[in-house]
Amino acid sequence: APRPDADLLDGLNPPQREAVTYRGPALLIVAGAGSGKTRVLTHRIASLLRNREAWPSQILAITFTNKAAGEMRERVGQLVGESARGMWIATFHSACVRILRREAQQFGFTTAFTIYDSGDSRALIKRLVKEHEGDAYGLTPAAVQGKISKLKNELADAESYARQANMSDPAERVFTAIFGDYQRALQRANAFDFDDLIAQTVYLFRAFPHVADVYRRRFRHILVDEYQDTNHAQYALIHELTRPVSGASSAEPYSAGGMMIFEPEKAPELEGASLTVVGDSDQSIYAFRGADIRNISEFERDFPGARVVLLEQNYRSTQNILSAANAVISNNFDRKDKKLWTDVGAGEPIVGFTGYSQHDEAQFIADEIEKLHRAGVAYSDVAVFYRTNSQSRALEEIFIRSALPYKIMGGTKFYERAEIKDALAYLVSVANPADEMAVRRILNKPKRGIGDVTETAIARFAEDNQLTFRDALASSDALGVGPKVQAAIAHLDKVLAEATALMLPASGEITPPTAVAEGLTLLLQKSGYLDALRASRDPQDEARLENLDELVAVAREFARNNPDGTLIDFLTEVALVADAGDLDDASGSVSLMTMHTAKGLEFDTVFVTGVEEDLIPHRISAGEPGGPSEERRLFYVGVTRARKRLYLTLAMTRAQFGEVSVAMPSRFLQEIPAELIEWRQSPGDVNSRGGSGSRALNARRPGGGWGGRKDDPPALAPRSTSLDRFPNKIPAKVRDNSEMQLAAGDRIRHEDFGEGRIDAVTGEGAKRIAHVRFDSAGAKKLLIKIAPIEKL
Ligand code: ATP
Ligand code: MG
Repeated sequence: APRPDADLLDGLNPPQREAVTYRGPALLIVAGAGSGKTRVLTHRIASLLRNREAWPSQILAITFTNKAAGEMRERVGQLVGESARGMWIATFHSACVRILRREAQQFGFTTAFTIYDSGDSRALIKRLVKEHEGDAYGLTPAAVQGKISKLKNELADAESYARQANMSDPAERVFTAIFGDYQRALQRANAFDFDDLIAQTVYLFRAFPHVADVYRRRFRHILVDEYQDTNHAQYALIHELTRPVSGASSAEPYSAGGMMIFEPEKAPELEGASLTVVGDSDQSIYAFRGADIRNISEFERDFPGARVVLLEQNYRSTQNILSAANAVISNNFDRKDKKLWTDVGAGEPIVGFTGYSQHDEAQFIADEIEKLHRAGVAYSDVAVFYRTNSQSRALEEIFIRSALPYKIMGGTKFYERAEIKDALAYLVSVANPADEMAVRRILNKPKRGIGDVTETAIARFAEDNQLTFRDALASSDALGVGPKVQAAIAHLDKVLAEATALMLPASGEITPPTAVAEGLTLLLQKSGYLDALRASRDPQDEARLENLDELVAVAREFARNNPDGTLIDFLTEVALVADAGDLDDASGSVSLMTMHTAKGLEFDTVFVTGVEEDLIPHRISAGEPGGPSEERRLFYVGVTRARKRLYLTLAMTRAQFGEVSVAMPSRFLQEIPAELIEWRQSPGDVNSRGGSGSRALNARRPGGGWGGRKDDPPALAPRSTSLDRFPNKIPAKVRDNSEMQLAAGDRIRHEDFGEGRIDAVTGEGAKRIAHVRFDSAGAKKLLIKIAPIEKL
């Protein structure tokens, strides 16, 4: 009889097939982009289920984003049907939240804990840095947050860190104190920050082997996608989960005096789970967050006898795209050479475009997408990538103006908005009253006359009476505040209590699924929050109301999808989604995202934008060891997302970091064989005026800076020789307005914008900027040196 999974193997190449069918304790699949790693994982899960080798509940699959988890669940569902339910397909964070929601009471938390996103923990750290006068020692909240995060990713907790810190260094001493206070504050608030979710789960497993055993017995097959981006804490988590079941007794916790005490050696009850990991060291892009490629290279040492499978055929991209990707990545010296190949053919050439400014660049992208759309390409098959979130603004402006439907993926934007954070703080105050930060946040939102003095009085009263901050609100009459303020506090207390009764039923009582949406509405209405926004004359507040409506809609949708979902489930989902930012499905819209967010995804058409020095590679990375190589891998990730069409775009000038600067093409462009890229001309190009592109090409002058040719000796600094790649961007005569004397009140004419009047001139030398009010084109800022302008 044929194997029940026979059809799952059809259409896989031999190494892929081996990766699906191999059975053994450990399997490592290493392969380049688009070679089917994720597909193999999915088929492997389906094969285990089909063959009845595992129950769905025995499978734990870890993906990098919630979106990837959703896709994998759907794919497995298609392959095996209903039986896919009960599987854990999750990100590291969401898997750990699920574990902690069950086990947190083991070590001093309740299962209603709050999850602090990086904004929340930044706020807390800010307060502590102030308290400890950290700035006197050069400690900024950002630096402290970064260091704490790094330490947690390495599983260094506050106590162990304090033991080995150099206490004769005052900055180190203060940092250690802040770290300790931060951890205690989290514990008091019954909260975990993002890094804690993983680190604390590891501690939990190490300190309570009988708890770990529960999960070791349960998960018999553990599969991890994007293994190259696991950090030490995530690696340790996998290690704990794949240990043999120890059979430890549950009588006592196993931690004493900061030391972990393990059960004396005894024969394991059950061997460790089988582990499958897939990864590509060329796509490791999270070293800055502590990810360690060595996790891949050392896999065979950690899991002796592991089978290794290599995949080399790429099924995603055309040969042109792959050749460009291969050419770029081969410049990283610290890698094993591997070449991807494809049999789909060369495909279309890669399109290059250089705009004058990021607006020009964005306009080209918008126009090009519209052109493709008219030719039958769905918006949802198009993606636009950038290196930093701030680059999305120019794109959004132009897209909105062009009425192009788009979605920002991975942007935490929505959940970062103040009104959304306020609304969530209301919910958290109900779900987890120990979370003092949340209660403090809503204390005077909307304004109800509760100032700092009152806030301090509440905190003092709470401390004196061993109450939580939230509970102290019930004693407004004992705070010694004026009658108006007292009434305001009493009102807030009443609203919170009412919402609590609605959303957190007594044990055994069943809440309707709509309780969260109703409770949220109640909180926003009765607290006066909505009224305050409605009464406002600030046009922004209109948008805030809409956003809150949207949040209520999210809560309703949550209720539909999770009929048994509680308030805590809702907050968990929001916290995780807000981090990954992939709440929206992008059907019918162009997807905008950073190259980091793009990992693992694929699109027919991809625009990689801002391909400039200082952006990709990013200027911050330049000075860091391994920085430029990591940036090259990131660029490689971006390029290899494309199936059929790849665009590489850049701008000659870019307003960034608060100033307009002249941008240089990225060195990565230089690394792509010239014949693979076809450069397009800007419709607003100076070159195109009064002549064809080819005339502009002929106008190249050897050694002429922007006018140099590839084989000409570089006339500018060596780094900028890559400019020679853009013959069609060379002004027929090199424009240089450096000497143009301009002052406020002058009138000028611009080749595109027509006539206008100068409001002001700022900056100096090559960076002088004219702020111009054009008669019909509105206000613009122009870099005088290169703007196509003349004085009237
Ligand atoms: P990345 O490194 O970007 O995460 P990956 O190695 O995980 O890529 P997949 O996303 O699994 O690659 O596969 C890339 C594309 O190739 C997908 O569209 C997938 O369906 C397709 N594919 C993979 N293997 C095959 C195959 N044997 N036959 C046809 N299509 C395949
Ligand atoms: Mg993948």
